[in-house]
Amino acid sequence: MPTRLKLEHIQSMTRRTAKWLAIRGGLEAVALAAGVGLVRCPKSKGVIFTLHQVRPASNSRFAPNTHLAVTPEFLDNTIKMLLSQGWTPARLDDIPRLLEEAGPDERFMAFTLDDGYRDNLEYAHPVFRKHEIPYTVFVASGFADRSRSMWWITLEEMLASRDKITVKMCEEERTFQTRTTLEKYAAYDYISDRFDVKDEDMFVAGIDDAARRAGIEPLDIVDREILDEGGLRNFSSEPLVMLGAHSVTHINLARANNTRMKSEISISTEHVESLTGAKPSSFAYPYGNQDAACKREFEAAADVGYAVAVTTRPGLLEREDAEKPMALPRVSLNGYHQKTRYVKALLTGIPFNWASYRTAGQ
Ligand SMILES: [Zn+2]
Repeated sequence: MPTRLKLEHIQSMTRRTAKWLAIRGGLEAVALAAGVGLVRCPKSKGVIFTLHQVRPASNSRFAPNTHLAVTPEFLDNTIKMLLSQGWTPARLDDIPRLLEEAGPDERFMAFTLDDGYRDNLEYAHPVFRKHEIPYTVFVASGFADRSRSMWWITLEEMLASRDKITVKMCEEERTFQTRTTLEKYAAYDYISDRFDVKDEDMFVAGIDDAARRAGIEPLDIVDREILDEGGLRNFSSEPLVMLGAHSVTHINLARANNTRMKSEISISTEHVESLTGAKPSSFAYPYGNQDAACKREFEAAADVGYAVAVTTRPGLLEREDAEKPMALPRVSLNGYHQKTRYVKALLTGIPFNWASYRTAGQ
């Protein structure tokens, strides 16, 4: 029924737009309140920022992964603002010690970039080098060695370039008309909502199969977007760059059985060591929210001997966080919110109490 389908598309788009607008409105309100002294910034001791892609802005109308990409100009402006506010750049693995030792007016910031995108080298590195800021790039070994696809980009690319797709999502197979931007977003949201699955391998295989039937090779996308092992090896020789591990297949570790979860951590650790010649000191849990990394995963990361492991749970760092270095929160620099006043609003800590912010895939 075309009418029902249209309503479904509009509802999906409305939900998506409302989610980001609600957060942006909240950030504006907090930024305004902070600007006139109604909100005082807490004396947090530290912050770890999460980035993914850093690249010039895209003007594509269909861009469901916008939240994952910021521009080099925004990164540059954010760093300038943070330095002017007295935040001291630090290596990620020094953060627990610095939290313990920090004097009353000292506060530290660390930068992390997940997944190992090629644009990190091209666009982020010059910005970090200009300000002499150390940073950590988290590598999923299956992306680096081209054995695993990235479902969220495969899906975006397939929907962007095709008018109709058929995807098998574990038990369910469905055909989507994807001619208009609205239809493309609705299909993206419908499929990605079903990502919440026990068998992530099967879900990814379903998207890969659909892409291949549509004439798109998912591993070519990985090759285009992600640094290969030679590229990562060279990248890691840059003095400001540290490589950390980010699992093998980028699965939700909390949903994997014990053996798989542990091997994802240990094999990716050995992979980074094979690239740099030294055991990595930091690990990032894929997806990283409370449904993707919990006590069992924190203990496994500690068993491997990491100094630091980071989640994507939003939060600033206090002195007590030095006692739980396997579960450090981070603050995402989000492509939908590329204004330094929004970063200032995040540094008040207030947005991290909003349910909409915590569940928005930051
Ligand atoms: Zn990741």
